[in-house]
Parts: sequence; C-alpha cells; structure tokens
Amino acid sequence: MLRLAVALAKDKIFYLAQALVLEYQNKMMKKIVLILVAISILGCKDSSEESGKLKVVTTTTMITDLVKNIGGDQIEVQGLMGAGVDPHLYKASEGDVTKLYNADIIFYNGLHLEGKLVDVFEKMERQEKRQVPLAEALDKNELIGSDYFASSFDPHVWFDISYFKQFALGVSNALSEEDPENAAYYKENAKNYIAELSKLESETRATIAALPEEKRILVTAHDAFNYFGKAYGFNVVGLQGLSTATEAGVQDVQRLSDFIIENEVKAIFVESSVSSSDPPRSAERAASCSAAPPAAGGSAGRRPGRGCGDACT
Ligand SMILES: [Zn+2]
Repeated sequence: MLRLAVALAKDKIFYLAQALVLEYQNKMMKKIVLILVAISILGCKDSSEESGKLKVVTTTTMITDLVKNIGGDQIEVQGLMGAGVDPHLYKASEGDVTKLYNADIIFYNGLHLEGKLVDVFEKMERQEKRQVPLAEALDKNELIGSDYFASSFDPHVWFDISYFKQFALGVSNALSEEDPENAAYYKENAKNYIAELSKLESETRATIAALPEEKRILVTAHDAFNYFGKAYGFNVVGLQGLSTATEAGVQDVQRLSDFIIENEVKAIFVESSVSSSDPPRSAERAASCSAAPPAAGGSAGRRPGRGCGDACT
C-alpha cells in the first residue's frame, strides 16, 4: 500500500514537473514570438520608410475613401474607424495612438465630429504633427450653427456634396505640400474625383426633382442631415439631436410621431451606427406608432405585431 502511495506521489510530482517545464517552455515561446513580432514590426516600419511613401492616418470611412482616391499608390493609408462606427463616441485605442504618432499626415473631419479624439489630436499638435481637419477649412459663414458641439457648428458637412469637393481639394493640397514630387499626380486624381462628385451632384438633384416639394421630408433618429436638407431642399426632422451622445425622451418620440402622422411620411432613416438600445431606435418606434402607411402603398393604420410600447403613451 505504502509503495503504491509513494509511486502515485512520484507520478504526481513527475506530472507537476512536466507541467512546470511545459509552462516554462510556453513562456519562452511567447517571449520568442513577441521578439519576432517586434522585429517584423520594426522591419515593416523600415521598409515603409524605405519606400518613401507618405504615411497617412484618417478617421471616418468617408475621409479614408477620399484620401485613398487622391493619394492612390503613392501613400499608405490607415483608417481608424471601420464601417458602421459612430465617430461621436469613438475612442482611440493604444494601437491608434501609435498609428497617429507614426503618421506623416492626419486627416480628420474636425468641428468636434470626432469628439472623443480631441485630446489625442491636441497631443499630436504638441508633437508638431501635420494635421488637416478638413471641415475647418470651410467658410464658417456658410456652416450651420449648433449648441451641441464645442465647435459651435454642426460638423456633418459631407452630406452637401459641394463641401465634400472642398474636402478633396484640401486633401490634394496637403498631400502636394508634404510630397511635392507627386503633386501633379495628386492634383490629377483630385480633378477626376471632383468630376465624379459633380456627376453625383447632378444625378442627386435630378432624382430629387421627381419628388413633389411637400414630400421632401427626411425623418431620422440622429439629426445629422441638416446640410443635406439645406443643399437639396429637404425638411429634416430628427429625434435624437445632432450628436448620438444626446438622448431623446418620451416627449420627443410623441412629437415626432405626431409629425409623421400629419405629414404622411412614408419612410424613415435609421443609421446602422446608432445604438440599437432605446432611445435611439425610438424614431423607428415613433414611425410604427404613427401608423405611417407602407412606402409601397397599402392600407394605412397601426401595423399589427409591432411593439409601440410606452414610447407612444
Ligand atoms: Zn453624427
């Protein structure tokens, strides 16, 4: 019995020892992997520096797309925000800060659209990093004022295509200054991109012209479309306020619901980047409560099976 117990104890010790060795080996492997990763990152950095390409960091997907179109294969672009990400609430990760520090130029919207990144941008300013807040170059007299933003302006300027054309010029000028050798290339790309935007502008106007004036109403959860409304003659009615950081109350839902009924609004726009929790989705509920008829026609009336809940009361 005793011998068996000793044998078992030996086995346990052996397994423990084996486990410790494995743990040690794992740790060593992790260290080796970390060293290899660090070497490869440094290697990448070196190769990008050798390539001589400008390193550009952008914030929103619109700006990332614009910069890629104008910079083409002469720059390396890293966009911080993916599709569907809310720029008002986006906070920089450690990785983002590293990307910003390593960048030659940073393009962002500005006017406090990227509200939670302001501190990081200020830090970069102290580093004398080239930053281009594209919306801040626009004529302030033309911008829509707002109490919601520290900038005192509504930052959602890109919904007016003419402003986005100015963004394109801003990108082209900054890239050309930073990399004069390729200035002609950037300017040519910007020219082509602006021509596409002009085409889009006339297509947009032609499409909207088919809509009777009294039907030019845009109902949305997040009140981001005032520049669109101003440029293309839409009455924009939002529930949530200009920034997604603000919240809508029951009264706002009721007010919007009444508006939808009175004006027989047929469709509303809810953004994918707006949280699915209440109150942001309340615009959708307000619409369902308001008995707005389906867009394709059909009978008016409260839709069965859709929860109006307490928002309607
Ligand atoms: Zn917004």
